[in-house]
Amino acid sequence: MEGVALTSESGPTMQETPLSANVEEYLEWIYRLSREQAEVTTTDLARSLKVSPASVTGMVKRLAERGLIIHERYHGITLSEEGRVVALRTIRRHGLLERLLVDVLGMPWHSVDELAGKLEHHITPEVEERLRNLLGHPTTCPHGQPIDWDLPAGDVRLGTLVPGDEVLISRISDETPEFLTYVAELGMVPGARLEVASRAPFNGPLLVRVNNQEYALGDEVCAKVWVVPSAAVS
Ligand SMILES: [Zn+2]
Repeated sequence: MEGVALTSESGPTMQETPLSANVEEYLEWIYRLSREQAEVTTTDLARSLKVSPASVTGMVKRLAERGLIIHERYHGITLSEEGRVVALRTIRRHGLLERLLVDVLGMPWHSVDELAGKLEHHITPEVEERLRNLLGHPTTCPHGQPIDWDLPAGDVRLGTLVPGDEVLISRISDETPEFLTYVAELGMVPGARLEVASRAPFNGPLLVRVNNQEYALGDEVCAKVWVVPSAAVS
């Protein structure tokens, strides 16, 4: 394939196709969204990237012309092989940088996503490789998101559980400071054990137990906290 950005498997000295931070950011989000929902639309992208639908439409057209994505009218947006390589590379660097900021520099876990999102576009394959070695080859970011986006088996949204289910929290997919601060206050961090006590009638809040405390959680929280069966990790 021509012009394909190379991954670190090819060695730290390989050249990469230079792409703007903005292009990488789009590809990263298309990938993230495509793993969590059936179809990625321009509306979803506008919401995630916090930009206007009009600017997403323009960018999506350019990315398609460049062969980084495929945009079919009624089938949403998908990444081409080249786009996928860039997206995964960016996600990997994001996770490694978050680990660096939290584990080495001691920054609080709720504050690093945005900063890693800026830095991830400016590191070379060599820096990535050295970071990975320095950090001891971590498999997830501090919020539980897999660095190579290899999602844990049985990974489902908290909202799909029924009373009596006992699970472990695997990852938090909303990494905004507000959301992370909220779930951390409840002890809902990756690796924490959680039990579903009941569900209020008429699709009301989910009552869960974490560290012997009971909490009522709304739909939005339940959609952004991912869990695995407790047997899968023990
Ligand atoms: Zn993270």
